[in-house]
Amino acid sequence: MVEKVIPIRLDEGKGLTPSIPGQLMPASASTRDSRGRPLRDLRISVTDRCNFRCTYCMPKEIFDTNYPYLAHQELLSFEEITRLTSIFASLGVEKIRLTGGEPLLRKNLEVLVEMLAKIRTTSDQALDLTLTTNGSILRKKALALKAAGLHRLTISLDGLNDDIFKKMNDVDFPVTDVLDGIAAAQEAGFTNLKVNMVVKKGTNDQEIIAMAKHFKGTGITLRFIEFMDVGSSNGWDMSQVLPSKDVVARINAVFPIEALEANYPGEVAQRWRYVDGSGEIGFISSVTQTFCHECTRARISTDGQMYLCLFANKGFDFKTLLRANKSDLEIANVIMSTWAVRDDHYSEIRGSNTAMSNTRKVEMSYIGG
Ligand code: SF4
Repeated sequence: MVEKVIPIRLDEGKGLTPSIPGQLMPASASTRDSRGRPLRDLRISVTDRCNFRCTYCMPKEIFDTNYPYLAHQELLSFEEITRLTSIFASLGVEKIRLTGGEPLLRKNLEVLVEMLAKIRTTSDQALDLTLTTNGSILRKKALALKAAGLHRLTISLDGLNDDIFKKMNDVDFPVTDVLDGIAAAQEAGFTNLKVNMVVKKGTNDQEIIAMAKHFKGTGITLRFIEFMDVGSSNGWDMSQVLPSKDVVARINAVFPIEALEANYPGEVAQRWRYVDGSGEIGFISSVTQTFCHECTRARISTDGQMYLCLFANKGFDFKTLLRANKSDLEIANVIMSTWAVRDDHYSEIRGSNTAMSNTRKVEMSYIGG
């Protein structure tokens, strides 16, 4: 019996309403955190709801019908998200990832994508607009998202066998419909598609080779994610983690692969390719090969809290600042001063019994993966 844990959300991890610095500085992309890391990536959760109940993210026992999901008026509006994103862009953010919950459950999401597509970076480029989805409603949404200006898509799929897939997402949703969503994305003109598989040892690791075989040679990059202790309710245990090096060994034994250089500093996935030239494969190893030293990511929760790490326990309340009509420069200064003191490196201290590694953590479904 899973112990019922009420996950951290605003009402518990009450976001601090950060104060506005006395002296305002011009917005600058040169802000570094206390470990010298710039702010380049922003993950925006547009809903805390999902139609799946992946056991590693939103276990059904906790996220049931009684769970206090955010009311609509608590969510940041598209205008507020766009304004906040534009301020982050003035501070050097170049990449936006829309997440959730399941982001495609947010009504008219393509309208938000269109608004974000107009924002320019400090080097006058378009933002790199990406989205992570479980693919369940992609058939309906792919064309509109593409037309609105979305650049790239990542689809989560934890197996090809329906029974195993169900063990991971805990709902009765056929794999064929997710694969159809992926096909719809390709038909809509999305290229460079990525598929993410969370590997839970003893639950779906027997699907690794089947998944590799299925996506090999398709132009779609399959990435394997180590099961992480995100949030405070997924019952994580190191014995359920299959280290990426073991996944590499399993695949290499069947389909020889070789390591590749990263595309850019801070790239989350380690890149590998099939020696026979039939494409790339990736590994996201937050547990066994940490990458905090290059982490340039901030997160905005569905209701406007800024989090400095996926494993944080406290956020900073920007919704109050937005709704208190603070100026863009005031909000930019708050982001700069908040980022400047950032020291997060949870994956490097996981299990180290320090205060930071022992606190209850915010739920991934609230701040986005
Ligand atoms: S654990 Fe936190 S600091 Fe480290 S890479 Fe992940 S989000 Fe970044």
